[in-house]
Amino acid sequence: MTEAATTQTQNSNQPIRASELDPKFKYQLQKIHGSEKILKCFQCGTCTSDCPVARYSDSYRPRTLIHMAQLGLKDRVLNSETLWLCAACFTCTDRCPQDVEVAAVIRVFRNLAAEKGCIPQVFKDQAQSLLETGYAYKIPELRIKKRESQGLPPLPKGNAENVKKTLKGIKFVDNIQKPQGAQSSGQ
Ligand code: SF4
Ligand code: SF4
Repeated sequence: MTEAATTQTQNSNQPIRASELDPKFKYQLQKIHGSEKILKCFQCGTCTSDCPVARYSDSYRPRTLIHMAQLGLKDRVLNSETLWLCAACFTCTDRCPQDVEVAAVIRVFRNLAAEKGCIPQVFKDQAQSLLETGYAYKIPELRIKKRESQGLPPLPKGNAENVKKTLKGIKFVDNIQKPQGAQSSGQ
């Protein structure tokens, strides 16, 4: 875990101040596709106990994120780097006894965090690479030369222009270029 993620985890254990509660947050989430049922969560913990990421992480707890959102701890949820650990495997969604679409709720949190520019640098770098090359990872020159030396055919070229066109309508470029913590005009 990164130092920043550790700090976020510690912050989630800090006493809650009334001034940081946003009582409207849960109602905002109820209106967003995927998180409509967030208030049905009764904190049984099934999502966390069955989550393969939580099993190997000291900090990632989907149940806790949902609880924080229900309480109105909007900034703590959206600033949490643990959000980005979810592998989107949907086990939690399949097993929630209350039909909360947990994986979709995490996706909604991420989208709201991205609107604020709260995206871990590693994902910003991947997104930038996607825009520039059509690949999420830049292929090192050394690897390209190694393929050549082994007589392997060149890798197919990524189509960055098509990627840009596809992502144009969803504020992808704007969000990855926002400074950390920037407020969206749409929120
Ligand atoms: S499994 Fe469903 S009801 Fe239980 S804590 Fe997770 S979201 Fe809430
Ligand atoms: S979708 Fe995310 S939160 Fe749900 S079980 Fe998979 S890794 Fe855990």
